Amino acid sequence: CGIFGVIGVADAANFVALGLHALQHRGQEAGGIVSHDAEQGFNSARRFGYVRDNFTKASLMETLPGPLAIGHVRYSTAGSKGAVIRDVQPFFGEFAMGGAAIAHNGNITNANALRRELIERGSIFQSSSDSECIIHLMARSFQSNIPERMKDALRRVEGAFSVVAMTRTKLIGVRDPLGVRPLVLGKIGDGWALSSETCALDIIGAEYVREIKPGEMVVINASGIESYRPFEPVEPRFCIFEHVYFSRPDSIIGDRSVYETRRQIGVELAREAPVDADLVCPVPDSGTPAAIGFSQESGIPYAMGIIRNQYMGRTFIEPTEQIRNMGVRLKLNVNRALIKGKRVILVDDSVVRGTTSIKIKQMILDAGAAEVHFRIASPPTAWPCFYGVDTPERGKLLAANMSEEEMREFIGVDSIKFISLDGLYRAVGEATGRNAKCPQYCDACFSGEYPVRPADMIAKGFEL
Ligand code: 5GP
Ligand code: SF4
Ligand code: MG
Repeated sequence: CGIFGVIGVADAANFVALGLHALQHRGQEAGGIVSHDAEQGFNSARRFGYVRDNFTKASLMETLPGPLAIGHVRYSTAGSKGAVIRDVQPFFGEFAMGGAAIAHNGNITNANALRRELIERGSIFQSSSDSECIIHLMARSFQSNIPERMKDALRRVEGAFSVVAMTRTKLIGVRDPLGVRPLVLGKIGDGWALSSETCALDIIGAEYVREIKPGEMVVINASGIESYRPFEPVEPRFCIFEHVYFSRPDSIIGDRSVYETRRQIGVELAREAPVDADLVCPVPDSGTPAAIGFSQESGIPYAMGIIRNQYMGRTFIEPTEQIRNMGVRLKLNVNRALIKGKRVILVDDSVVRGTTSIKIKQMILDAGAAEVHFRIASPPTAWPCFYGVDTPERGKLLAANMSEEEMREFIGVDSIKFISLDGLYRAVGEATGRNAKCPQYCDACFSGEYPVRPADMIAKGFEL
């Protein structure tokens, strides 16, 4: 999901709409905005579909006045699958001290347990979302101001959370102690912005100030910004998959350009898994920077062998299998004239179920390619993510059930190679690779080493 907030500008909701539009790649099912205005109090609007189709309408934006607003773009991971408007964030709750609204990116790994406990104690849930627990925990806290209540609440929460919240007068940003999901701070005029990624600061003309640090909480109001450290400090474990796929290539993470990291992944891949061929083609758009790097390092020409229909979204993020299956063909088509008779290297960011790879292989062979070689910009995805990226259960993950050679056969290509975990770490800037004793990132979907015990899943029978 994507989260965004702004304080200290006229008509803050318009800025939030723009920010959410720039974060649309992080969630395309639905979006929501809550604003606060001195006269009208809190207002909220939650809609299915793209930001640009909803939050551009003057009639809607007029209902969201005020100098303070937050927003969320959603793709469902936890909670009910598919579309229910009550699960669309931000969540708003009125309670002692005026209430608050929150937008959450990540996944709370003990949400089921918390929810059960809260319901037993009388909380009335409005949604099936794990994120709603935070509002109820805040409402039940005995602290005398909302930032303190938020600290109370988040100390009970396990898992991955980047949160943008607002009270009547304050904008609040928090990252979990491991800093699994991103959150950055920007300055716009006399005001401030919080965003999942820097690309959304660019769109509103805000200046990128810094990242919110893992375990940090910032509270921003008219008189400035205060920083707190509500949690026990631990070694951070940022999601390495944000570098590979999730973030936009024009964003900056930890002083590194995401584009440059992805290009470097391609360079590493070309060194680790060279192959003689005529063309390097990306599976657009997610494979593009890595394909450029692969081509530069190998000297094999880069070409657009697959053309993407720009009017389709991300296929993976469509929540049902049926839509996803169709999605590949609706979105991608082979550039036949280019491919015929050629030995083609296809570069993609990841293989999850294998659906995409099989369809693309078939399209490329139908177009007359002589050979097809897959090069994948992430290690084999063999474990589900419980921290906010929607990977399917283990049984559906190709790499959980097959060796590399079995995957090659199953997909039906001449070769398939994945970047090594160490190669990936080098590409994100860790010169000596992965520190096995204390990995610098979360890489659980590749390694099976979960930095936070997924308590709810274990209770449901998941085996580590
Ligand atoms: P598959 O078709 O193998 O199930 O999925 C892999 C494709 O889904 C890749 O092309 C990748 O770009 C795309 N994708 C989109 N969202 C995600 C995500 O959240 N996780 C992963 N691993 N791949 C994703
Ligand atoms: Fe990121 Fe994978 Fe960790 Fe999930 S399990 S947070 S996708 S690295
Ligand atoms: Mg893709």
